Amino acid sequence: MYPEKRMRRLRRRRLLPLFTEHHLRTDQLIAPLFVDEEAAAPVPIASMPGQARQTMDSVGEAAARLYAAGIRAVLLFGIPRTKDAAASSAYDETGVVQEAVRRVRAEVPNLVVITDVCACEYTDTGQCGIVGDCADGGPDLLNDESLALMQRIAVSHARAGADIVAPSCMLDGMVQAIRSALDAAGFEETLIMAYSSKFASALYGPFREAADSGCSCGERSTYQISPANGREAFVEPSLDAAEGADVLMVKPAGPYLDVIARVRTLDLPVAAYQVSGEYAMIRAAAERGWLDERAAALESLLAIRRAGADLIITYFAEDAARWLAEDA
Ligand SMILES: [Zn+2]
Repeated sequence: MYPEKRMRRLRRRRLLPLFTEHHLRTDQLIAPLFVDEEAAAPVPIASMPGQARQTMDSVGEAAARLYAAGIRAVLLFGIPRTKDAAASSAYDETGVVQEAVRRVRAEVPNLVVITDVCACEYTDTGQCGIVGDCADGGPDLLNDESLALMQRIAVSHARAGADIVAPSCMLDGMVQAIRSALDAAGFEETLIMAYSSKFASALYGPFREAADSGCSCGERSTYQISPANGREAFVEPSLDAAEGADVLMVKPAGPYLDVIARVRTLDLPVAAYQVSGEYAMIRAAAERGWLDERAAALESLLAIRRAGADLIITYFAEDAARWLAEDA
């Protein structure tokens, strides 16, 4: 007890670096990239200042810029030219993501390429898979019917050269289905980063503009986790780990640090997705002069690390890389 015990001894300026528990490094950050098959020039995303939809021709350059800044992995999302009920453009061998993977691999061979595996950008309904009438009545995402679609999408991404596929649809049995399809197609070395604890969050709003995946049919709350449910958000990644996931993901990140800390106990690498709304809130407050953007963004990322995330998917990746380089 005081006066013998003095915690402020640990915080003396010159000693402080010795007792820093957690660090944020650029190689722990993953940058999302949106690729628009129809865009002729990069299209700024109004609700996510500083972010843009890339074109087929600009995505390689954008990836090279990130790599030069120290970023070692990107997560690709595609906005296809055509959408239909079967999401057929999602597994087209010459589809937007498949082609973007090839361009990025050619431009920056050492960059790790992760692809989002889902159907919501590719279905005319905006749903994440195959929709049909559910037991409660009305249209809903059909689980087992959608698994075969996810297998096809994942294998087409691996064939294009993706290092890691990231299924985001929260279907039951999704990791096992994709693992077996990848192995059967000869892609035993392709990793699976599972969106394991994905919440039905209000913070995805700006992303919907970015990825053009507005939901016009059914309810995502039938497959994403309720923000009220922490135990359920631990069972999901436990199952994904058992099904063979290589990396477990929690999404969103900042409001779910308790979930990150719990998933950490499963002893697989943990990724956290700092989503568009988390990014937009900091950017918008900074634009009004209400927050110091750099300090608030770096604090938000460090807090996610402290909770237990090994990797952070963040729209601040490029800015954070610059800020961290300035501090070094
Ligand atoms: Zn989806």
